[in-house]
Amino acid sequence: MDSEAQHDPRRHVAIIGAGFAGLNLIANLNPKHTRATLIDQRNHHTFQPLLYQVAAAQLDAGDVARHVRGIIAGRSHARFRYGKVTAADFDAHTLTFEDGGTLPYDDLVIAAGAVYSDFGVPGIKDHAFVLKSVSDAVRLRSHLLKQIEQAAHTDASGDSGRMRIVIVGGGPTGVELAGALSELAYHAMPKDYPDLDLHSVDIQLVEMTDALLPSFSAKSQRYAERVLKRRGVTLRMNTAVAAAESDAVILADGERIPTHTLVWAAGVEAHPLAGALDVPTGPGGRINVGSNLQVLDLPHVYAAGDIAASPGPDGRPLPQVAPVAIQQGKYLGKILSRETGNRKPEPPFRYVDKGSMAIVGRNAGVAELSKRFGGFAMRGFIGWLAWLVIHLIYLPGHMNRLSAFIRWSYEYVTWDKHARLIHEPETRG
Ligand SMILES: Cc1cc2nc3c(=O)[nH]c(=O)nc-3n(C[C@H](O)[C@H](O)[C@H](O)COP(=O)(O)OP(=O)(O)OC[C@H]3O[C@@H](n4cnc5c(N)ncnc54)[C@H](O)[C@@H]3O)c2cc1C
Repeated sequence: MDSEAQHDPRRHVAIIGAGFAGLNLIANLNPKHTRATLIDQRNHHTFQPLLYQVAAAQLDAGDVARHVRGIIAGRSHARFRYGKVTAADFDAHTLTFEDGGTLPYDDLVIAAGAVYSDFGVPGIKDHAFVLKSVSDAVRLRSHLLKQIEQAAHTDASGDSGRMRIVIVGGGPTGVELAGALSELAYHAMPKDYPDLDLHSVDIQLVEMTDALLPSFSAKSQRYAERVLKRRGVTLRMNTAVAAAESDAVILADGERIPTHTLVWAAGVEAHPLAGALDVPTGPGGRINVGSNLQVLDLPHVYAAGDIAASPGPDGRPLPQVAPVAIQQGKYLGKILSRETGNRKPEPPFRYVDKGSMAIVGRNAGVAELSKRFGGFAMRGFIGWLAWLVIHLIYLPGHMNRLSAFIRWSYEYVTWDKHARLIHEPETRG
């Protein structure tokens, strides 16, 4: 810590995680009373809702991520610390990093997000792709493109599984990815592979329950099902996965589906940091917090976003979605900015649910306002347009927004998918 920071009379807030919660928190702190250190193990913020578009070659990795120093530049109260937090001493008010460094704080906010949960299904960790980081998305894209390249010069007859993609989880990520991959395989690529029948690419979406998009109305769920089926995606509803192998996925009824590409989008749990710190946790490993987001029995320690189990109006934890993280970040920014010694009891955090949206593919989206906002639903082209506009607004950085807008416009007109790069570590020579 520099000596200027040591003599700064303002309270120092340390924020673990430059995700939706962390960024909105730092933007809402009052620099008069508070300074902050935003910490992340990556040097960039990842806009996770658009990762599937990187995997499907619609956007470039740089379009959906922005370096944190660029985001906080110009905020005199904000600093960035690149590194992975591994421990916290809540009595001494100190964080420890993987690189051996330490950081003192007055108030701590844990906003380290979530990771995919394999729910104990054997083989998922070793054989399935996930979509949580830019690297995950680039890895999946490269793998998919490589399967097609290999099929183009080998005999793809027989059912080796090379031309089959199995996506597990019928939530927004699974639905959006299935729709985007059908567009890539059946519309964007065929003209470049004259000797390969890309319509033999078999995209299967496996869902354990009887409906896609669980947080949407039955009408929107049925709409998503219809669109995906029409676009060549095979839906396997009421189907559970029992195990994964390097070249197959095994269903609970014993059926073996050969595939070289298994994508796991079946659910998340709190980031393992929650378990590594000595904090109270509940289902899904999420940190138990009170109505003001303070970690139970730990003064000056708060948790926000996906890692926190913040009770909603029905007492159940709020969903792990971006709007919750954004609103919690804003809320903590305000309450942690209050002058020391003049901190009245904080008003409780109240989540305002504005609704949900998901894209099923070109010209096909679902956007539903919550009952509080009239319960209005948009499906089809108008839902798709609403989705595009909202995502452009929330994507951080003017350059990212401009780049995404140009790519989407270009791809809409040409049907081309521009970001079709196989990106793999290469050895020298
Ligand atoms: C593929 C995908 C699609 C999604 N689509 C939608 C959608 O359409 N709509 C929606 O509302 N939500 C969506 N979500 C969920 C949404 O992205 C999350 O709810 C949101 O990102 C949570 O924000 P957060 O700030 O809690 O955590 P995150 O945004 O995950 O940020 C956490 C940050 O903490 C950092 N971190 C973790 N551990 C450490 C450590 N030990 N030290 C330092 N840094 C650390 C991470 O690097 C990360 O940058 C999607 C999620 C995924 C994965």
